[in-house]
Amino acid sequence: MIRLFRSRELPGETQAPVIEQVRHELRMRRLRVKDRQQLTPNMIRIVLEGDDLKGFTSQSPDDHVKVFLPQVSGEPAKRDYTPRRFDAQNNELTLDFAVHDAGPATAWAMLAQPGDWIDIGGPRASQKISGDIRHWLLIGDETALPAIARRIEELGNDDQVTALVSIAEDGDQQTFSSRAVLDSHWLTRESSARTDAIIEHLNSLALPPQTFCWIAGESSMVRSVRQYLLNERGISKPWIKASGYWKEGHADSAEHNL
Ligand SMILES: Cc1cc2nc3c(=O)[nH]c(=O)nc-3n(C[C@H](O)[C@H](O)[C@H](O)COP(=O)(O)OP(=O)(O)OC[C@H]3O[C@@H](n4cnc5c(N)ncnc54)[C@H](O)[C@@H]3O)c2cc1C
Repeated sequence: MIRLFRSRELPGETQAPVIEQVRHELRMRRLRVKDRQQLTPNMIRIVLEGDDLKGFTSQSPDDHVKVFLPQVSGEPAKRDYTPRRFDAQNNELTLDFAVHDAGPATAWAMLAQPGDWIDIGGPRASQKISGDIRHWLLIGDETALPAIARRIEELGNDDQVTALVSIAEDGDQQTFSSRAVLDSHWLTRESSARTDAIIEHLNSLALPPQTFCWIAGESSMVRSVRQYLLNERGISKPWIKASGYWKEGHADSAEHNL
């Protein structure tokens, strides 16, 4: 177990959250498509099944697996996807694919049929966030929605969570079942650009002490929102986890822990 971040602790001070990295044995798995569903206009849900899922573990909502996408020539393309749900009893793994203009993962999800086969690897590690967190602020675009949804579903009774999600259109809103006290904000890009809309909306939100801010999505958005939270809202670094899940104009361009 590797401890990634910890602030200097002073007596009587609130301890900053800790992010622990738990490593898992890296395994490749060959899985069959059990079901494909158009979840919302721009999100495809794929349920994978197979005995290879025995021993699969995903211990943090923002884990990822590598999906190996066969190419006509050369090596398969590899892309990162969040284990949206894992059913150990039935050996079923659910992944949600945000649909966009082009890319091997999007193309595969659009054409996938029950009975198709796909290879996945990982998760190689889980980053578990713990500490005296009173309020979660989860910010992202649709690529972050599987991780945001999982976090919301996994929080407990006394937890407070605010989700701010940038989506292409109103129909891409999702409903979550959660024990936590949830405040959801959906920002459609029909009316405003991703980053501008998020920062504008954040301006109207109170951020109580001990708010942990989790941000993921398009890299330049994530950087700008992180800077805003640090500089304009006075959030300190250990209270923010920010990851670029994709980069405008660049294929396969994750930037972990910005
Ligand atoms: C830890 C992690 C977890 C992730 N989990 C998920 C998940 O659960 N669901 C999910 O949908 N995505 C997820 N992503 C993002 C996903 O891996 C990327 O969007 C990936 O680039 C998609 O691959 P592709 O083959 O479709 O496109 P690529 O071949 O990678 O890219 C082709 C072009 O499309 C652009 N592009 C890529 N993604 C998008 C997008 N969403 N919108 C618009 N343009 C885009 C690129 O800039 C590039 O110009 C995750 C990423 C990380 C790092």
